[in-house]
Amino acid sequence: MGVGSPEPKPKLDQMPQWPSLPLPAAAAAVARRAAPFALRRSFSSSTPASVCASASIHDRVSTTTACPEDEESPSLVVVGGGAAGVYASIRAKTLAPHLNVLVVEKGRFLSKVKISGGGRCNVTNGHHQEPLGMARNYPRGHKELRGSFFKTHGPQDTMRWFSDHGVELKTEDDGRVFPVTDNSASIAGKAVSGASVIENGRFVLKVEKRTIDFVDYINADYVVVATGSSQQGYSIAAQFGHSIIAPVPSLFTFKITDKRLADLSGVTFPRVKAKLKLDGIQKSAPELTQIGPMLVTHWGLSGPVVLRLSAWGARELHQYNYQAKLTVDFVPDIHIEDVKRILFQHKDHHASLDGDMHWASIPNNNLNAIALRLKQWIFEVVAKGQFKDEFVTAGGVPLSEISLSTMESKKQPNLFFAGEVLNVDGVTGGFNFQNAWTGGYIAGTSVGTLASRNNLRQQQSYLQLEG
Ligand SMILES: Cc1cc2nc3c(=O)[nH]c(=O)nc-3n(C[C@H](O)[C@H](O)[C@H](O)COP(=O)(O)OP(=O)(O)OC[C@H]3O[C@@H](n4cnc5c(N)ncnc54)[C@H](O)[C@@H]3O)c2cc1C
Repeated sequence: MGVGSPEPKPKLDQMPQWPSLPLPAAAAAVARRAAPFALRRSFSSSTPASVCASASIHDRVSTTTACPEDEESPSLVVVGGGAAGVYASIRAKTLAPHLNVLVVEKGRFLSKVKISGGGRCNVTNGHHQEPLGMARNYPRGHKELRGSFFKTHGPQDTMRWFSDHGVELKTEDDGRVFPVTDNSASIAGKAVSGASVIENGRFVLKVEKRTIDFVDYINADYVVVATGSSQQGYSIAAQFGHSIIAPVPSLFTFKITDKRLADLSGVTFPRVKAKLKLDGIQKSAPELTQIGPMLVTHWGLSGPVVLRLSAWGARELHQYNYQAKLTVDFVPDIHIEDVKRILFQHKDHHASLDGDMHWASIPNNNLNAIALRLKQWIFEVVAKGQFKDEFVTAGGVPLSEISLSTMESKKQPNLFFAGEVLNVDGVTGGFNFQNAWTGGYIAGTSVGTLASRNNLRQQQSYLQLEG
């Protein structure tokens, strides 16, 4: 089953607002693990949708229709139907089929999965199987994610998950992993159908649309906040006592108004070394030097090297109003003396050619200047580019305020976070989705395990009562 037919994007002012939680922050902070969450759901006419997962279980007499309205079973409410939220809900429901799962999505399910990777959906990166290597690709999170995080559910697990659910993937030379169809619609469709029917568990994921205005209250035993970079998600976190690291953009191109680039627009340099120097910051971090492809555009510079630099310098660039110097080495594998030697050799070579004396007549000083230009071309970055090929937000709930082994809040038991709502963001190449899959998987595992354990305890106490 798909996620429903495309609908026009609601305007921002029509978006349903997530209202304040009825629990004041202080009360929420002292709530006990057993106390269910009380969430108020307020929908306007802009058709928010909810997903209600249900499972019929073979080895039980009855068929369980798992909707939160069923007061008997514990319930999980996942706020946000993006990559992290959908993955978390599927995982929790897989582990605890009796669990009522409701995913509340204010816009469209998996909308970023559909638009990502230039429409191809770069689901993960297949070049880094080691947690340490993976973690190095996260400007925010590289220290914290070195441990169990990717060990629990890494790129290989994600790829297996997708192929188990019928989405064939391919890994490109640079490590980026795409569906073989090169069409992200198949990912979005499959992700949801994976939730609806799981081979042995017989899951059904149902999409509901509400077309009338209503305000509703949902009780939940567990909540996963997977709201991406939405302000509302940060407010929910803050109401449970979390601090928020101010969000700033990451992964953007550089606007450079340099006439020398005008004729090069559209040219790709497959391997340059670029160093970002920020005004006002003396010290240069090793990550602010990157090697890889660079693209000249009509507004400046783009390509993986530039996007990576924008990610590692995201906070400082924001602080200094996106003013910086970029030094580009166009021949990073050749020492400057060798560059000079090659230029001089060419001069000799050309000097011997009839009718072509221009190169030969270049003064040696100018050849030295050309060599220097090739090795150290300095550009002035004047602003952040507007082009959004891949775009994420740095900032959000600090990792120190959650347990990475469970994704549970350290402030509020039974509250979990996953995905971009946390202060984690990766460089380009599938790392941002991998953070969402891993976080969603761990959060879903935690809720599923807790719910199963509680269910078992409940069954035992019923048996004791009956006995
Ligand atoms: C144009 C673009 C292209 C990208 N391409 C790639 C790529 O190729 N590879 C890659 O790794 N990353 C890519 N990214 C980044 C990637 O999409 C995100 O990092 C990832 O989607 C984060 O997943 P998430 O589930 O945490 O958040 P999201 O995918 O943002 O999902 C959050 C969901 O929560 C909903 N929501 C928010 N607040 C509420 C609320 N109060 N109530 C109900 N619902 C709510 C939102 O509507 C949204 O659907 C791209 C991003 C963009 C913008």
